[in-house]
Amino acid sequence: MQTLKTQCCIAGGGPAGVMAGYILARAGIEVTVLEKHADFLRDFRGDTVHPSTLQALYELGLLDRFLERPHNQLTELSGNVGGEVLRFVDFRHLPTKAKFVVIMPQWDFLNFLAEEGAKLSTFKLMMQTQASGLTEAGGRVTGVTATGPDGPLTIEADLVIAADGRSSTLREQAGFTVHDLGAPIDVLWMRLPRHPEDANAALGNIGAGYVFVTIERGDYFQCAYVVPKGGYEPIRAGGIEAFRERIATIAPMMRGRMQALKDWDDVKLLSVSVDRLEQWWKSGLLCIGDAAHAMSPIGGVGINLAIQDAVAAANLLAGPLSRGKPSDADLAAVQARRLGPVRAMQALQVMVQNRVLSPALNTDKPFKAPWIARLFDKIPLLRRIPARIVGLGFRLEHVTAPDAHTAR
Ligand SMILES: Cc1cc2nc3c(=O)[nH]c(=O)nc-3n(C[C@H](O)[C@H](O)[C@H](O)COP(=O)(O)OP(=O)(O)OC[C@H]3O[C@@H](n4cnc5c(N)ncnc54)[C@H](O)[C@@H]3O)c2cc1C
Repeated sequence: MQTLKTQCCIAGGGPAGVMAGYILARAGIEVTVLEKHADFLRDFRGDTVHPSTLQALYELGLLDRFLERPHNQLTELSGNVGGEVLRFVDFRHLPTKAKFVVIMPQWDFLNFLAEEGAKLSTFKLMMQTQASGLTEAGGRVTGVTATGPDGPLTIEADLVIAADGRSSTLREQAGFTVHDLGAPIDVLWMRLPRHPEDANAALGNIGAGYVFVTIERGDYFQCAYVVPKGGYEPIRAGGIEAFRERIATIAPMMRGRMQALKDWDDVKLLSVSVDRLEQWWKSGLLCIGDAAHAMSPIGGVGINLAIQDAVAAANLLAGPLSRGKPSDADLAAVQARRLGPVRAMQALQVMVQNRVLSPALNTDKPFKAPWIARLFDKIPLLRRIPARIVGLGFRLEHVTAPDAHTAR
């Protein structure tokens, strides 16, 4: 069994893990990030890079290089509610450098960060390396066990960060208590062709018995069809032709394009969950991102929060790590800083799930836009509020961890 030593071992090369790894490595901490897959190529992940993340990239001096990569920019969002196209969100007035959301495949974003990380001598990314357990001594987590391309290994670390997503192995191994906040919906993801004349198509379509979201992605739309929890099997039993007809009926612009769904392999089920750990840490171990709090896809804010956790954790832990092992109080400080914004966002998501999506899905009566939705369309100033919530979250984290490499 191979044994490696590092100051901080991060399990999971998603947005939270790679960003935390990058900022800590930039601050001069030796970081090893473990990612179980051989690459970042996974379809139907969140492909949104929010203004808050763009702000972090700006503060890290990476924004200009990042925006050279192929991407789309969204400055406003609208939705078709009960047949009326209404504007909801206007990012153009945010107090950030970039006043838009970038739409970019998540693998391009992660590849960018990994490439920037590779320029730092203290950043190590081990692909195809799956964390399987924790090592502990004297009541403290001292590292992880993992399996890499060359077999089993142990990585000893002053701190382990679990950023291994909502099915986190490490949070389970640590025996943390998970609070399930409940999710009455699942999401079916699919790709449908996008034509040049589709510019400015509404992002969402809500009506009697359906919620259908279309995210522009160059020559195709990434589409989400929201179903009540457990609703996928009955739809599947009805056959692919009936499903194609259903989508074409609720989104008429898609009629004529439905042959893109050849069979059920082209439709991916996301089982939605919203949960949160009671305590995100124990001595020597900290959970961040979806590993600490799985988010609903509502608002597309999961990546935003994962990255904000990463920035806060790196800011708060770079100093303690440079001096040795972070204390319990250091780890508790990360949870104390991030719990409020996470709790507020999950409460909002649960409210939208229960008050907007579930009623829309469970009715066959004509669905009218609520008055408040019309108000947002009529009063441009109001559209700045959801822009702040979606674009920045409830607490914008600025990068304060030092840049040890430039300083040297
Ligand atoms: C279908 C879908 C669509 C979504 N759409 C959006 C969206 O539009 N906008 C948005 O903001 N959010 C969206 N989300 C949510 C968003 O993807 C997550 O909230 C976000 O990716 C969380 O980041 P993370 O780094 O905490 O975890 P993850 O992104 O889940 O990353 C965890 C990483 O850890 C790796 N890993 C897991 N276990 C191990 C292990 N044992 N050892 C080593 N590596 C491991 C995984 O391969 C993965 O790369 C979506 C989620 C899904 C599933």
